[in-house]
Order: sequence, then structure tokens, then C-alpha cells
Amino acid sequence: MALIVQKYGGTSVGSVERIQAVAQRVCKTVKTGNSVVVVVSAMGKTTDGLVKLAYEVSKNPNSREMDMLLSTGEQVSIAIVSMALQEFGQPAISLTGAQVGIVTEAEHTRARILHIETERIKRHLNQNKVVVVAGFQGITRTEELEITTLGRGGSDTSAVALAAALHADFCEIYTDVPGILTTDPRLVPEAQLIDEITCNEMLELASLGAKVLHPRAVEIARNYGVPLVVRSSWTDDPGTWVISPTPRPRSLVDLEIARSVDEIEFDANQAKVSMLRVPDKPGVAARLFGEIARQDVDVDLIIQSIHEGNTNDIAFTVMTPILKKAEAVAQAIAPVLRSQKVTENEEAEVMVQQNIAKVSIAGAGMIGRPGVAAKMFATLAEAGVNIQMISTSEIKVSCVISHADCDRAIASLRSAFEIEEDKRNFTLPHSQPTDRFANTPSLPHSPHPPVRGVALDLKQARLAIRQVQDRPGTAAKIFGLLAQYNISVDMIIQSQRCHMMNGVPTRDIAFTVARIDAQAAQNMLQQAAAEYGWGEVVLDSAIAKVSVVGAGMIGQPGIAATMFKALAQHQINIQMITTSEIKISCVVAQEEGVKALQVIHTAFGLAGSQNIQVPA
Ligand code: ADP
Ligand code: ASP
Ligand code: MG
Repeated sequence: MALIVQKYGGTSVGSVERIQAVAQRVCKTVKTGNSVVVVVSAMGKTTDGLVKLAYEVSKNPNSREMDMLLSTGEQVSIAIVSMALQEFGQPAISLTGAQVGIVTEAEHTRARILHIETERIKRHLNQNKVVVVAGFQGITRTEELEITTLGRGGSDTSAVALAAALHADFCEIYTDVPGILTTDPRLVPEAQLIDEITCNEMLELASLGAKVLHPRAVEIARNYGVPLVVRSSWTDDPGTWVISPTPRPRSLVDLEIARSVDEIEFDANQAKVSMLRVPDKPGVAARLFGEIARQDVDVDLIIQSIHEGNTNDIAFTVMTPILKKAEAVAQAIAPVLRSQKVTENEEAEVMVQQNIAKVSIAGAGMIGRPGVAAKMFATLAEAGVNIQMISTSEIKVSCVISHADCDRAIASLRSAFEIEEDKRNFTLPHSQPTDRFANTPSLPHSPHPPVRGVALDLKQARLAIRQVQDRPGTAAKIFGLLAQYNISVDMIIQSQRCHMMNGVPTRDIAFTVARIDAQAAQNMLQQAAAEYGWGEVVLDSAIAKVSVVGAGMIGQPGIAATMFKALAQHQINIQMITTSEIKISCVVAQEEGVKALQVIHTAFGLAGSQNIQVPA
């Protein structure tokens, strides 16, 4: 007999018929000898409706009252689902988050789960009842017992956290699509079902816009090794398994906040090639990385900073032994780019830097916690380490620094994040994942394709700060300030070009933030400009971020080239590029986002022969 947590999303409980179908499925699961805890979302689009209602009476609704309001949606569905189960003869009881004892931080509208009491649920299960729990909500530990919510889409997180706390055999997430698909079928109907995906890939996809799973749910599944499957509540098809590595033992106290960083990784054997002043028009990145792929040069990080005039800079890192080859490719392309030069003084130029190192912090717990990256930058600043390039992903922040600073950087990061030295992290051959969790499917040479999924995020905005001083501590200041306001940053790019301002070298730094945070971030950074000595802060909200994700791209040249070529062929200009080991993200104009998603999905041959029908 297994203990199963089943979570049903809004559409799956959107009508009486759907609720009856849910009740039937639950009864069937119980009849085959299992104990079932059901977690439900609010019916249909109830939560959207409640949000709208709040904004009809207030421009800036109080977050405590917002939680009070939004938590009602789930309270309706648990009662109705319980009644439907009882009607089928199945004993059942509904419980709110507070009644269960889902204890969270006192952070309204985005609370993290600290602890889950399991006693009451277990008691009801022992009485052969199905326990129907309200997703998305919790209660604070303070005497006031305030109702909190976990953030939109948070019922997935409630379900996986309950599965972890109850040591359930597995957690099933029932939704309106057949499982995790290569992309959103509402935008690309020929998206295909993925049988299984590693949690690292899913963490990236979820945070880059694939709404099918809440990223924090994937984080908990990974941390506690909860077997997780996403399935359709319309069919009996098997769905998609999210594969977690064997977790390190971890306490269930401070469930979502215990450890933000698991690993400090480094690679001391890198070199950087920068192409300065390349024309800012479609096709340039495609041409450069197309040639690099043809020469079989494996590139690690790629960044393209925002344009300056009509040109921008593209930089990439490679392992030192292939630097000569990489440089030769860049040098061969430079004259071609020069011939396309846009203004007199804007000549493409290749710059090579040897003796650089990449240091990274890795861990699923940095999701939505901007303070973690800020702490990394502050730690490096205190150690007097200048950051040359930053690359971020949901589960990793990497900084390119001088080779001479590497040991100092690692020692200070280990002590700041209390990570013991782990022999496994010493420089790995480049063809192997440096990520200890990339050990499940999709390793190089595995049958899995290098790109598992493509995601589109239309909820981001880009900020650029001009003339930021190029010295240790700058990133720490900027991202420390943003962290104070709880603003999470996704892509971060520093321009390669350096300008002297009053005898101090300066660079531009651009990054993306959630669009709802953008205005506040711009105001705050502008106010700090005089004190910190940076220039204008420019905001562009009309952007889209399109990303490809796959653990199989590690050690496989040509993935970036394919993505850039697909965009170039459709005349889509790339405004920014960043990569991590398992993802490549490009910022394009907002109106080109959907098209970009579609052409990239096609370019990687991800389309299936049958269209996915999403229930209305
Ligand atoms: P639920 O209410 O069941 O939690 P959501 O609306 O939160 O459902 O998530 C399911 C939706 O996620 C799908 O209807 C689909 O439009 C969207 N989606 C985005 N990316 C993907 C993807 N890669 N695979 C599957 N669905 C996706
Ligand atoms: N009902 C909540 C929302 O719409 C939580 C969820 O559905 O996961 O965001
Ligand atoms: Mg959802």
C-alpha cells in the first residue's frame, strides 16, 4: 500500500463534472489499496477573479488582506471535493492550510513553508479517510496565526511539500495538459510530451516561463527526493516523471529556507574571447557561433551585452586548450563584421583574455531569493575579487574572475556559505557536467536530445545601468540594493567595453527583473546613482525572453548556433544573450517573442506529429 499525494489544478476542478471526475480518480486510487492526500487549487480562474476584485477597490491592496481574500478560493474547492468523495461513498475530510499546520514565514503573498505538522493528516488517513488539503496557503507561527499564501501557482509547492513531510511514495500533479511538454502547447500546438526530465532541467524551464510546475515545487522534490509526476486529469496516460537525484539527508524543519547553496564549484582553466563592436542586427551571433560550431569548438558561457550605439559586444568562454582555435574563428570573422561596420569609429575587434576562472554557487534554494546572489557578490568584493562576467540561472550563479583570485574566491565563498570542501568539485573535464545533480538522464551520449524544452517569459523587463565603476564591490552594491527590496534578478550582463570616466574605468550592467518590480527597481537605482556614482538607469519593458534548456547540451558544440540561426532566419534581432551549462536565453523584442519560441522549437526538431489539445 502506497501513500500518494495527488494535486489537482484549477481547470481540473473547474466545474461540477470535473470535480466528479477527480473524485472518481481518487476513489479508484483508494480502491487499489492506497492512502491518498488530495491537494486542490481554487476552481477554474477563481484566483484571477479575486485579484481583479481586490484591484477594483484598491490600487495597492494590502498584502495581508490579499492573502485573506485569495485563500478563500481553495477553501471552496476542498469542501466541494470532499462532498463529492463522500457522495461516492468515500470517507473524506477537508482541511485548510491552518488546520493541517502548514507553517510558513510571515511574508504575505509569497510565504515559504517552514514546517508541516503531519499528525492530524495521519490520524485521518488511519481512519481510512481521504484528506483534502487546500493548496497555496499556510499559517504563520506567530500568535496571531495569520493566513498566508505561497505565491501564484503555489499549490504545486503545497503538494510536494506535503509529500516530503509525509514521506509519501510519490506526488502526482494533475493538470490540463498530458504532462511536461517541449513547450507551451497554447503557443505551439505541436509541442511533444517528454517522458521524463531531470529536476535541474525542470527547475530552469519552470523559472524561465513554463508554468506547468511551480519552480519551488521542483526545488522541494529535488531537495527531498520526492518522486514527482505530472499527468492529465482527463486521461490515464502516464505523464512525465521529474527525476530527482538521491538527496543528501535534510531536516524537515525550515523546509523551504534551510539551505540556499549546496555547492561551490570552480573551473580554473578558462579563457575568454570578446568580440567588441559587432553590428547590432539579426544574424551576427548566428554567423559567429555557426562558425564556432563548424570548427567543433565547445563554448561554455556566452554573453551578449546590450547595444551601445549600433553595435554590441559578444563574449564567450572556452577551455584554455582550445583558446587558439576559438580565437582563430573570431579573428576570421572580424573582417567580415568590419565590412558591415555601421559608423566610422565602430570597428569590430577581437580581445582575448587568458588566465581566467569561473566560480559558481549552486543550489535550488536560491529561487526567488535575491539575497543569495547579492551575498556571493559581497563576499567576492570583501575578498578584493573583481567580477568580469556574471552568468545566472535559477540554480546557479557563476562569476568569471581572474585566475589569480580563484583560490581566494573559493575560500571566501566556502566560508560565507558554510560549504565544506568537496573533492568532487575540482576541475572536471569540460565534457562532463560540473553539476553534481546532472547525473540522471540526458548526460552527453545519452539518447536524450540536447534540448529538452523551450520556454518563453513575457513577464520580464530589462534595466541597464550606464557607466558603472569597474572595481570590486560594484555588483555587490547593485544586487545588494535590489535584494533589500526583495527584487530577484535573472540575466545579468556586464558590457565588455570599458569607458574611462574621470580616470575610473566604467562598464554598463544590464539585467532582467520581473516586470512588476521594474519601476520600483529603476526608481531605487536612480536614487542611488549619485551616491554610488553610476549613470543613467534605462528601463525597457517591451522585451521577451526565450530560452532553450537541456542537460544534454553540455559538451555539445552547436546548440547556441542553431538557436541564433533560427532567430536570424526570421529576422529576429537578439538584444541580450546569457547561458548556463544547461540553458541558453535570448532577449528579443516583446512582439517577436511568440514567433521566436515557435521557430526555435522547430529548429531543434521538437515538434511532434500530433497537436496537443488543451481543454478550454
Ligand atoms: P494548473 O491549474 O493545473 O496548475 P497551470 O495553468 O498552472 O495548471 O499549468 C498548466 C499550463 O502550463 C498548461 O495549460 C500550459 O499552457 C502551460 N505550459 C507552459 N509551458 C508548458 C510546458 N513546457 N509543458 C506543459 N505545459 C506548459
Ligand atoms: N489558486 C492559486 C493560483 O491561481 C494557486 C494555484 O493554482 O496553484 O495561483
Ligand atoms: Mg499551476
